Amino acid sequence: MEIKRTTEIFVETNRRLVIRQPESAEHFLCPNCNDAMLAAEQIAVVFGISRRAVYQIIETEAAHFVETETGFLLVCPNSLAKILANRTETLGEKL
Ligand SMILES: [Zn+2]
Repeated sequence: MEIKRTTEIFVETNRRLVIRQPESAEHFLCPNCNDAMLAAEQIAVVFGISRRAVYQIIETEAAHFVETETGFLLVCPNSLAKILANRTETLGEKL
């Protein structure tokens, strides 16, 4: 009689991103949760999603964002993280 063995290997990885902004960059805090806001492009890198997905979330959901006088779109990472976590839990959705 042949015995089959199955081995499962779990790998856990952690990723740390350091985002540096130029000294002249203005710092904005989210008016709702007081977290430091990031540019939409930075948000895309941090969360591993496309810029298009960031814009879609901003337009369709309750992510906190502001647009500066110079036209930069800044997004609250705190609110976006909550939306993405909720989506993953409820739908198993991948962006
Ligand atoms: Zn916020």
